[in-house]
Formats: sequence, C-alpha cells, structure tokens
Amino acid sequence: MVYCDNAATTKMCEAAKQTMLYITENCWGNPSSAHGFGMNASEKLEEAREVTAECIGASAEEIVFTSCGSEANTQAILSAAEICLKRGKTHIISTAIEHSSVMNALQTLTGRGFTLTLLKPDKTGKINASDLASAINKDTGIVSIMHANNETGIIQPAVEAGIICRKNGILFHIDAVQTAGHIPVNVKTLCADYLSASGHKFGAAKGSGFLYVRKGIDAVPLIFGGKQENRLRAGTQATAQLCSLAAAFDSSVKNMENNTEYVSSLTRLLTQELTAVPGVICIGSASERLPGTVSFVFRNAPAGDAFVNILSSAYGIMCSSGAACDSGSIKPDRVLLSMGYAPGDAERMLRFSLNENNTPEEIKYISSAVKIFLMKYREIHP
Ligand code: PLP
Repeated sequence: MVYCDNAATTKMCEAAKQTMLYITENCWGNPSSAHGFGMNASEKLEEAREVTAECIGASAEEIVFTSCGSEANTQAILSAAEICLKRGKTHIISTAIEHSSVMNALQTLTGRGFTLTLLKPDKTGKINASDLASAINKDTGIVSIMHANNETGIIQPAVEAGIICRKNGILFHIDAVQTAGHIPVNVKTLCADYLSASGHKFGAAKGSGFLYVRKGIDAVPLIFGGKQENRLRAGTQATAQLCSLAAAFDSSVKNMENNTEYVSSLTRLLTQELTAVPGVICIGSASERLPGTVSFVFRNAPAGDAFVNILSSAYGIMCSSGAACDSGSIKPDRVLLSMGYAPGDAERMLRFSLNENNTPEEIKYISSAVKIFLMKYREIHP
C-alpha cells in the first residue's frame, strides 16, 4: 500500500502517539475538576497550549482549542461577523478556492445581510494581492484567505493580504490548516487576527484543532456551557488529543527544514515522472507550493473518484480527487474551474500529498502504475 493522501489526514507521528498514550493512562481526569486528577490534566493541557502558541509565535492565552479545523474556521468567521455588525461593516472578501468550512460559513452570512466578494486565482492558482486591495470598500470588515490551497498545494499571498488588512483596519482570518506544521506559520508576520489549524493534518490525533485569536480581538463561542477555553469553547477538553496536537506540532516545527527538503525532492520526482506522460498536466507548476502537495490533470483518463478507486483497488495507491469532504461528487473541481480549466479537465484532477513517511521507491511505483494503467485505458478508450 502506498499512502499519498496526507492533505486529507496523516498517520499519527510517534511523538503524538506516545503523548496520547501517556495522557490517556496517567492524566485522564477532567481538566476542570478541582481535585488532584483534574489539576494534573489541566497542567498538561496548559503545557500543550504553551507549546502550540510557541509554534506560531503567539502567547498561550491567544489559543482556543477546538475539535478540528472546520470548527476553528466557523468560529473565526462568525466571531469576525459579530464584530463587524457592531462596527456597521457588512462586506466580506474571501476567495473562490476556500475550503467548504470557510465557504459555507461565509454563505450563511450572506443570508444575514453581508455581501461577499470572492477573489479568483489566476491560471497559476494564486490569488493576486492587488485584486484584494482593489476589492476593498468602505464597508469591508473581514478578509478570510487560506494560507495554502488544499487541492493544489499552492501558497497564497497571505503576508501581503495581512499587511493590506492591518493598514485598512479590516479583520483578517487565515485558514492555515494545510500549512501549520508544513511551512513556517507566524501570526505576527501574517498580521493575523484569527488563524485556524487542525492537528490531524500534521501527525496528531483526529479531534484536535485550534483557533488563534489575537489579544484584544473578540470571539464568540459556537458551543455554550461551561467556562472552558476562556468561555470561548464549552465542553470538556479532549486532553489526550490536544496534547498530541502540541507534541506533533512541536515535532513538525523542529524537523521542518529536513522534512521540507526531503518531501520536496519526492514531489519533484513525482512531477517529473508523471508530466512525462502525454496528457498529464501539473497544476500551477511554476507557483510556490507546499513541499508535499501536488495535483495533476489526467486527460483521456477516468474522472475523479473513479480513477481514485482504480488506483486504490488495483494498485494499492491512496490518493484523492480533491478535498476529502467533497469527494463522492463527479462535478468538475471548483478550484480548477476558478483557475480557468475547462470542465473536462477539472473533472480529471488527482491530488498526491506526500510526507516524510513516503520513499523514492513509492514514487517510482506510483508513476509506473499510473503509466501502465493509462496505457491500457487509452487502448480501450482511444
Ligand atoms: N481548511 C482546509 C484548507 C482544509 O484542507 C481542511 C481539511 O481538509 C479544513 C479546513 C478542515 O479541517 P478539518 O478536517 O480538521 O475539519
């Protein structure tokens, strides 16, 4: 089996596994309890908050632990909207390539009196910062942009966007779900007011995520109840999962330089091999991208999930036809459509997302399996 769907989820790393096991066995008290077991769990949780904050250049009080990236995105957007309503600002700018958790939260706001401008990427998959500057008007209160796209792996001009927002007094949210643990993420460099991340994308347990809320900026809870997470996220914290997030994040940041070099070399090799096949196009090949995420259009090939299923069942290769939460659809990929690809191409996209667990031998295997399959398929479907 070759797993190359790390943008969907990662296998837990050793540090996260050991931490989770340790907390599960030794610190399983309720972190809100006043007794020793509770204090023990609470201490570990606060250590995890410190470590997480340090990984993004924040302070611990700015971290709200959540269950996932979708929750963090939703909370960021609804919180920013609340502030905007008080300020009398009703215009939001985002992009056509956001994850559905951002997109659907924004769409909800359009039913509550907000207007929404969605910036389109250019052919290289990148949003243009000058388009953002031109889209701002006197009513603009929120900008929400992803740090890197989950389907193409292309890094977006978040730093430039942050500077523009700060200068114009606009709240700025960054969806860093695909970048945290993979490339440097610093809330100060990014001028972020809110930043979302998800543990299972960088080797932690599923069920762990966080929202950074800049000191002095308000946020509203999505879940009501007790006073956990500074009243911003009620419910007993998943201590073991959240401690695994901190352990995995810390380990990813410490190993980032080596991993980036290694994983980028695998991505280059895969790109070289696959683009040598006629009718295979690398998406946004010239753009700055995440070390391990790359997507291709396969012409004269089965569409989307049909191709994913063949590669999985016949060759043991686990990749994806786009965002995992959008799979099952045979619609043309909306990210590719927004980049100007024809619907026929946008239906034939596969994403390979590699990490440090992959090997050059696996890359050779993937490319030869794809080549063999395409040759046979194209003989039958000329
Ligand atoms: N944002 C982006 C860019 C993503 O890629 C994902 C998941 O794929 C999410 C948000 C949602 O994260 P989670 O699966 O933790 O809810």
